[in-house]
Amino acid sequence: MLTPRTEDAPMPRAALARTGSLLDDEAWAAFAARDGSQRGRFVAGVITTGIYCAPGCPARLPRRENFRFFASPEVAEAAGFRACRRCVPRAAPEATAAAAVVRAVADAIAAAEETPTLADLAARTGYSPFHLLRLFKGATGLTPRAYAAALKGRRLAEGLSRGEDVAAAAFGAGFGSLRGAYAATGGMSPGRARRGGHGETIRTALADTRFGPLLVGATGRGVCFIGFAEPRDALEADLRRRFPAATVVADDVALAAHLAAVLRYLDAPRRGLALPLDLLGTAFQKRVWDALRAIPPGERRTYSDVAMSLGKPDAVRAVATACARNPVSLAVPCHRVIGKDGGLHGYRWGLARKRALLEAEAAE
Ligand SMILES: [Zn+2]
Repeated sequence: MLTPRTEDAPMPRAALARTGSLLDDEAWAAFAARDGSQRGRFVAGVITTGIYCAPGCPARLPRRENFRFFASPEVAEAAGFRACRRCVPRAAPEATAAAAVVRAVADAIAAAEETPTLADLAARTGYSPFHLLRLFKGATGLTPRAYAAALKGRRLAEGLSRGEDVAAAAFGAGFGSLRGAYAATGGMSPGRARRGGHGETIRTALADTRFGPLLVGATGRGVCFIGFAEPRDALEADLRRRFPAATVVADDVALAAHLAAVLRYLDAPRRGLALPLDLLGTAFQKRVWDALRAIPPGERRTYSDVAMSLGKPDAVRAVATACARNPVSLAVPCHRVIGKDGGLHGYRWGLARKRALLEAEAAE
């Protein structure tokens, strides 16, 4: 998956983000030194736990190879990482104390039957509604009302993935109507969202490659996961986070053909990789993924190019997010999308691998 900086973003961290693979080394040095002055320049995701931290986090330091560095919390989250509750990476340094207030508000929303009003929440915390709104939005990127809506959406997805029927899951999550529940799944039908998915079996096969371990997962409909260049445990944890209620079964035999195709691609990237895919995403994400599959091996596009090709020139950021959510690296070649300045702009599986894939595809 890509971990891009979109080229239209304000770039106080440009110097760091533009250094290609140097990003990882510089970021690692700052993170290992717990250099809190680097807060805001990057965040560090730990692949074994799925948590990301800001520089200066006091938590125990995992091993170097378990880190992936991202230019911003948004990109880390798009790549599937959750914020550390100790260092609260989204908060400005001086606001770490205020993070406790934000957490209290989030907890109050989670515990309430009906979403509390801003005035209620403000009264509870001793802030004015104006200040509380600013504080909460600064920390979470959402208003309390939007946060409550997102929470309901997540509960709905969890209910569906436990195998509850649509009506039970919708009302259990606090929706007053099925229409509201449908909107909350982002246009995915609740039936598709359920495929998170109770009753679903994902078969997996693992191989060693020149990039390290590689894990392929597939449902009966097609390949739903390809991860690589991480320890086996981390790859399996990533798969389980994406499909929390599926039954995961190692099955080398069932996946032999798919696995062979991926390994052939890694040997001769110029040939490209065509696999039957079973992708779960919003309509827009699927359009982006289709557009990426149309980029021939050896060629590159910018995020803007992709947005333009979809007829949505303003959707550069949404394209970048869809790239970062790509569940099947290599098969949906998000590595072929680069920044407008020609920089690689990050890759979920490490910039060095992105560069190696691009160079191998361009050779021959
Ligand atoms: Zn942390």
